[in-house]
Amino acid sequence: MDKPSEPPFELPHDSLREAPRPALLARAYGAGRRLARGLVDVALPPACMACRTAVNEPGCLCAGCWSRMGFIERPFCDRLGTPLPHDAGEGAPLSPAALADPPAYGRARAVAVFGDVARDLIHALKYADRLDVAEPMARMMARAGADILAEADALVPVPLHGLRLWRRRFNQSAALARFVGKRTGVPLRTGWLERRRATTPQVGLDRTARLRNVAGAFAVPEAARAELRGRRVVLVDDVFTTGATIDACVKALTRAGAKRVDVLVFARVVDGRGAPIS
Ligand SMILES: [Zn+2]
Repeated sequence: MDKPSEPPFELPHDSLREAPRPALLARAYGAGRRLARGLVDVALPPACMACRTAVNEPGCLCAGCWSRMGFIERPFCDRLGTPLPHDAGEGAPLSPAALADPPAYGRARAVAVFGDVARDLIHALKYADRLDVAEPMARMMARAGADILAEADALVPVPLHGLRLWRRRFNQSAALARFVGKRTGVPLRTGWLERRRATTPQVGLDRTARLRNVAGAFAVPEAARAELRGRRVVLVDDVFTTGATIDACVKALTRAGAKRVDVLVFARVVDGRGAPIS
């Protein structure tokens, strides 16, 4: 989900959007746009985070978006965090996919299945400067990941490469992780993982191509290794697609001495039967 695209809805200040502009003006443009949005937010009644229809309080979904959100509830696979078709009874149920091909991470948790509402929220955060959705999204993530967060020593966001970070101005995974940390008290450690090289956007690549694309792209800086050793880490990202990026991050953290790496995302792509895609 790295490829920038237009947000799937009309922004109220779309008239401010312009054709390509000189890079030097980009920052001033962004600041003005955020200021304009701030003024709009003050003037308008609270709107649904996803579709912008009126709701009672800010940071909420309307009833329609809520019902289409695809929240992942129990029973789900204890390892993959993917929905299971029926209740497997007591204990920690595992999906056939987790048994056949155990993941590099310990356990993954997601708020929702990646459908149209989750996609709208993630795009709003990622491409439309809608930082207002980060805190409510993180609140949902803190709830969905309560069990793994209770045992975590640190939150580590999936890092963006410097160039992409500069273009997009902020890392949506770090924004989500920061609010999850504020809510749960688990410390944020952005310096424990870095992206060593830019990778081609993963959109449109199959799993094999994605794995090749991100192999060796992530590393734990030498200076962070002593602190990381023996720690239980929760890796945070916005969306879990094939897991190639997450897999590369988990392996880098594990190789550097993390005791355990769990994964917390906002949305997870699953196939029609609720199983992970590959
Ligand atoms: Zn809505």
